[in-house]
Amino acid sequence: MTTRKPLDRYRRIVIKIGSALLVDRKTGLRKAWLDAMCADIAALKAKGADVLVVSSGAIALGRSVLDLPSGALKLEESQAAAAVGQISLARAWSESLSRDEIVAGQILLTLGDTEERRRYLNARATINQLLKIGAVPIINENDTVATSEIRYGDNDRLAARVATMTGADLLILLSDIDGLYTAPPHLDPDARFLETIAEITPEIEAMAGGAASELSRGGMRTKIDAGKIATTSGCAMIIASGKTDSPLSAMANGARSSWFAPSGTPVTARKTWIAGQLQPAGELHIDDGAVTALGAGKSLLPAGVRKVIGLFSRGDTVAIIGPSGREIARGLAGYDADEARQIVGRKSAEIEAILGYAGRAAMIHRDDMVMTSQVNPKSERQKKDASYA
Ligand code: GLU
Repeated sequence: MTTRKPLDRYRRIVIKIGSALLVDRKTGLRKAWLDAMCADIAALKAKGADVLVVSSGAIALGRSVLDLPSGALKLEESQAAAAVGQISLARAWSESLSRDEIVAGQILLTLGDTEERRRYLNARATINQLLKIGAVPIINENDTVATSEIRYGDNDRLAARVATMTGADLLILLSDIDGLYTAPPHLDPDARFLETIAEITPEIEAMAGGAASELSRGGMRTKIDAGKIATTSGCAMIIASGKTDSPLSAMANGARSSWFAPSGTPVTARKTWIAGQLQPAGELHIDDGAVTALGAGKSLLPAGVRKVIGLFSRGDTVAIIGPSGREIARGLAGYDADEARQIVGRKSAEIEAILGYAGRAAMIHRDDMVMTSQVNPKSERQKKDASYA
């Protein structure tokens, strides 16, 4: 099992913040808490980590701005509350982070954006670009359009999907619970706190009650679900209390929290997923130069592709076939099949002139590719020559 590392040793951290931490039912936004949180985020970034925030609180804040009575909201009421609250929430994050000269970028996702591969790739590209320019993505579900059948509903699982989507190595769920207990601690005096969870077994799942407070939707149940999503794709998860100011500093200073061990590395898990696709939707036949490039860990550029077979959409898995006819790798297509056909053999710089828009330089990016057989360009050539003899 991988062991727990200090927070500043993780390189990409997703922090999920529950509504109750950010919003007080009577007084609205908890500005001092947010400022302290942003200072902790700035410290992590100063150590070189990428930080992403999944912030709840839109509905709670909208409720407080609109002075809505307590109790359950109808769908259209919570959608309207989210619309009002999200604007304040995003502004609050942006202002608070700017105190440390950090730029915030707002991303609102719906379930389809993470579950449909095409949209998933688009959302991921935007988030990655934000990270590349040093910004902190502030992410929430787009509650204004999400309806009950097609929504996450809780930000625990959304945060886990964001973590797997971006190859994060740590997901921190901050709420009013400091971790996982063997039983609900307010009901059972013998409940034991669990500091390390090596694996989410059925026993661990059984320990998660259903509790959720009025302000937040997720209880321990959704946190364990989030843990399953995160850890199976190689991302560690921490459940910690955010009740005090500066919970991340508190954790570094020894405040207790529950740590869920990752079951692999993000890259391995992601590539396993690509390699594990049962039926590639198409084939890209490549030349010797591209075989060598792939063997050296490079992306597949259109220039090295000779032929495109099949009907596939961007994001579908395709097989990469060497000159000898052998499958060399698999990857997620960066282009639809008809676009791929148009740019076959062409330089990446020509893509815009051919397709009418500046697409991606790679036909398959190396992050989206997994080698499925050992590459030896020389033997590839020999086999090809033999087959022509
Ligand atoms: N997306 C909801 C909001 O911003 C919160 C969901 C949750 O509490 O997990 O209000």
